[in-house]
Amino acid sequence: MARQHSRTAHGRLTAPLAIDIARLGRRPGAMFTVQDTVDSPTRIGVELIAIQRGAPLALDLRVESVSEGVLVTGTVTAPTTGECSRCLTAIQGRVQVALTELFAYPGSTTAATTEEDEVGHVVDEKIDLEQSIIDAVGLELPFSPVCRPDCPGLCPQCGVVLDTDPDHHHDQIDPRWAKLADIVTAQRPDAADRGER
Ligand SMILES: [Zn+2]
Ligand SMILES: [Zn+2]
Repeated sequence: MARQHSRTAHGRLTAPLAIDIARLGRRPGAMFTVQDTVDSPTRIGVELIAIQRGAPLALDLRVESVSEGVLVTGTVTAPTTGECSRCLTAIQGRVQVALTELFAYPGSTTAATTEEDEVGHVVDEKIDLEQSIIDAVGLELPFSPVCRPDCPGLCPQCGVVLDTDPDHHHDQIDPRWAKLADIVTAQRPDAADRGER
């Protein structure tokens, strides 16, 4: 299965990250740049953090004809949202990925000698960047994002967000002594006073 866009007319027409490269005319060295912002057609990222569908993808790309195909280099930048893997607080950030992707011309040696999913392909004078961006962003985003590097996370005993309660702690009592601790507490006069109120 090719990793590129669908070859149906519908897929081509609606692919928002497809670039028409007809103007390069297969002349090696011909190039143009793309500086554009498009809505992300899909959620792009990993489980806990991603570029949300509809978020602005800022493209700053150079599209250049080389002998075997079209070389795309540049950056894609977009806002991200997700949640801290330690304290589950919502987090917002920004991701920038560098793209370097060759799209082989149909009939080129590269197209003939590589597996379909190893390089992109020029299809009907268009290249579709969606899969390249999905792959690059997936590598860039952390699988365990944090709201800040020293986020203390949640209390392992009661689940409170430790950041909101820096003095939070539980008195650690060995379960074998817990019963004795109860007795000692009950026998302390001040504890008894409190109990009467
Ligand atoms: Zn956190
Ligand atoms: Zn706690």
